[in-house]
Amino acid sequence: MRGTIIKCSNCGALNRVLFEKIHSNPRCGKCNNYLNILDRPLDINFSQYIDEVENYSGYVLLDLWSPT
Ligand SMILES: [Zn+2]
Repeated sequence: MRGTIIKCSNCGALNRVLFEKIHSNPRCGKCNNYLNILDRPLDINFSQYIDEVENYSGYVLLDLWSPT
């Protein structure tokens, strides 16, 4: 069983979601809130880096750029 861990944006609980269930609107096991599934790139700035990248429990693909 392969899957990923998704943090609930409502209560912060970590939820294991199987890959085959990821497109069926999974809900948090603690608060029943719908989990936010990233299905597109997320544009973040430096202040969001730790929360969005370092604290993410799954794999992260980074595309870094500088305006200068
Ligand atoms: Zn929750």
